[in-house]
Amino acid sequence: MCEQCLEDNGNFCPQNLFYKEIVKKVGREELGIRFNFKEIAKCQGCFKCELSCPEGAIQPIKYEFQQFIS
Ligand code: SF4
Repeated sequence: MCEQCLEDNGNFCPQNLFYKEIVKKVGREELGIRFNFKEIAKCQGCFKCELSCPEGAIQPIKYEFQQFIS
């Protein structure tokens, strides 16, 4: 919760994909940090987030972008 990932100077996440929100933890709710999965297509795969988090709390996942055509 050092909140470096929330800084919008581009040093952590150039796309500002992290945000603060109330999250549920075992038996309680508190402010936490989430990744904006709705905007995951903006992720440029730079891994700055993984490399910059001082606690090593961010781990990349494999994601395959699918575009749905109706
Ligand atoms: S890999 Fe994606 S989420 Fe991580 S810092 Fe780069 S743009 Fe942001």
